[in-house]
Amino acid sequence: MSDATITDVIAHPLTQQMRRPTVTSWGTYSEVSMVLVEVRTDAGITGVGETLARFAPRAYAEVIETLLKPRLLGRPVADIAAHWQQMRRALSGRAGGMLIEAIAGVDIALWDIMGKRAGLPLATLLGGCNRSEIDVYAAAVNWGDDAQADAELERFISRGFPRIKVKMARPVKEACRRIERMRQRAGDGIELCVDANWAYGLDEAIEVGRALAANGYFWFEEPLRPEDEQGYEQLRARCDVPLAAGESNYTVDQAMRLVSNRTLSILQPDVARAGGVTETRRMALLAGAHDVGYAPHIGMSGIVCETASVHLSAAMPNFRVMECEGDESPFKVDIADLKPGCLRQQNGTLDVPRGPGLGLEIDWDAVAHLRSN
Ligand SMILES: [Mg+2]
Repeated sequence: MSDATITDVIAHPLTQQMRRPTVTSWGTYSEVSMVLVEVRTDAGITGVGETLARFAPRAYAEVIETLLKPRLLGRPVADIAAHWQQMRRALSGRAGGMLIEAIAGVDIALWDIMGKRAGLPLATLLGGCNRSEIDVYAAAVNWGDDAQADAELERFISRGFPRIKVKMARPVKEACRRIERMRQRAGDGIELCVDANWAYGLDEAIEVGRALAANGYFWFEEPLRPEDEQGYEQLRARCDVPLAAGESNYTVDQAMRLVSNRTLSILQPDVARAGGVTETRRMALLAGAHDVGYAPHIGMSGIVCETASVHLSAAMPNFRVMECEGDESPFKVDIADLKPGCLRQQNGTLDVPRGPGLGLEIDWDAVAHLRSN
């Protein structure tokens, strides 16, 4: 099999209106964007990737097409680790931000091509774990008033999700009341976790963390800002609920401290942010070496991010559970021409696609329809 050579890299900036706005401690999101990355080869195989670009997607597309593409044209697809390093050198300074998110989209597309060339699903190419489906949890009950939160919780339960995430914010007293209320309404048969999106200072987080432990929640996600690593360590020592974080990390170096000292119980890299399959796999393996679970972050991303995460989940021995956006957003259901029920959640699981590469058939008409102006 001769090497396939990269002949073009095309970035498609896309924007969707949310069917149900997401409300977090940061605010309300009713419109979000992403970039779909298309890599073409002289073997006639095209790969697709996704870059996390919630806002200003055309700026990301510019980075991909003017900064990264010239480093890839004419190169063999198979040298993915070398391409990653080449792309990383496009900017000096610490790794992070828009550049690593842009690399993620290209990297996922290269892995998609490798799978298609080999005739193997990405999960198998990554080592395989003999999983045909993976566990997911619903994201998320928004930080609204009680009536809204009750209704959203009820809707997820009625759709068959056995695990549900609840968004938390300030004030702390209100958060503690919400924690008890959701537990009472869900009963003991539903597993619950929370996501604070960095809402708290350390003292507040300790109070919320104790309420979570008392009510049997299975993790406390991003209680503090990600840079406050010492704060996470102190919180770990002062409350019993498992801590989860990692969606704000761009590279394995940024996960190193809290994983290697086991402050985190769960690491949550997002494949469309954390440098694609190449770097996200390194982060998941680092976590596994320290008995820290891997739980992919998806959030408001699209079907390519979700599907790449399904394959990583199927392949990583320390996989625990994956995030699944509860709504059928255009980025999830319009972009890929999936058979109904083939991929989307049923009874708290997603199927692992069996086709080569990501196993996705992209609906390019839908992509054109979602393209940002
Ligand atoms: Mg989160």
